[in-house]
Amino acid sequence: MEDSIFTKIIKREIPAEIIYEDDDTLAFLDIAPVSPGHTLVIPKKQVENIFDTDDATLAAVMRTVRKIAPAVRDAVGADALNIHSNHGAEAGQIVFHMHLHLIPRFKGDNFFMWPHKDYKEGEASEIAEKIRAKLA
Ligand code: AMP
Repeated sequence: MEDSIFTKIIKREIPAEIIYEDDDTLAFLDIAPVSPGHTLVIPKKQVENIFDTDDATLAAVMRTVRKIAPAVRDAVGADALNIHSNHGAEAGQIVFHMHLHLIPRFKGDNFFMWPHKDYKEGEASEIAEKIRAKLA
């Protein structure tokens, strides 16, 4: 497998502002931040996205997110944080090495999030049933 751009950061082959590292994960500043302090948390194991990530790898990533979230928020004086992740090209994933975005949010920053819609009559039950069937 070819090294992803993030694996190259893990290997220190390309530079990044690394803020945290342990045996299984790395956290560094996003090169094109949505807001100051925008941080990416990645597993050192090169998995593409949620669909090929094992439980232990995901748990390690979430432990790191939990550990660094208050530091990221407080270091930039943010009021809150979005934890966001894209899984698949159609969902906006550009780098195919699983990662979570920690995006500091500020009161009144007015970032637009996606719009909500309504289900048609019976549609929610139908979709929920299809998902339950896939899980069975
Ligand atoms: P995604 O759309 O979730 O795949 O986002 C990939 C993110 O990686 C984007 O926010 C990019 O700005 C960020 N990114 C790409 N290359 C680098 C890099 N060399 N160092 C830091 N962040 C990067």
